[in-house]
Amino acid sequence: MPNHDEQCIFCRIVSGSVPARVIARSDAAVAFLDLEPIAPGHTLVVPTHHSETLADLPTELVGPLFAVVQEAAHLLTTRLGADGMNIGINQGLVGGQRVPHLHVHLLPRFTGDGGGSVHTIVRNPPHETIETIYATITTT
Ligand code: AMP
Ligand code: ZN
Repeated sequence: MPNHDEQCIFCRIVSGSVPARVIARSDAAVAFLDLEPIAPGHTLVVPTHHSETLADLPTELVGPLFAVVQEAAHLLTTRLGADGMNIGINQGLVGGQRVPHLHVHLLPRFTGDGGGSVHTIVRNPPHETIETIYATITTT
């Protein structure tokens, strides 16, 4: 039985109690158009199992979530003629997450649309060397 939180807007979209413009779905995930699109076809893909972050999602549901991301991306590319796409997750308050149910943003990109890349999200290069950071991550 999937995790469900009736207070959660995205759980309510999954269950159908809040309407959404669904473009693809499976047992594991639902893709629907964002209500305040920042690009034509701006889409969110959410797991049907309520999880706040990627870390909280059971590992066996990660692949099925991204299968629907792939399906939705294909639809946006073929139907809207997108030239490229940014695919990303805002995680945590500092990462810009406002809805506490994991969602993957798909932003179709069009030549000349004036947008940036993942590299424009933050400019906070580390003071430590890459070696130090690598050691901190990998030393047990
Ligand atoms: P984030 O800042 O990553 O948490 O983004 C949440 C996104 O959810 C925003 O882009 C909102 O426009 C979108 N959103 C919130 N409520 C709904 C809804 N009922 N249907 C579709 N999109 C929604
Ligand atoms: Zn939820």
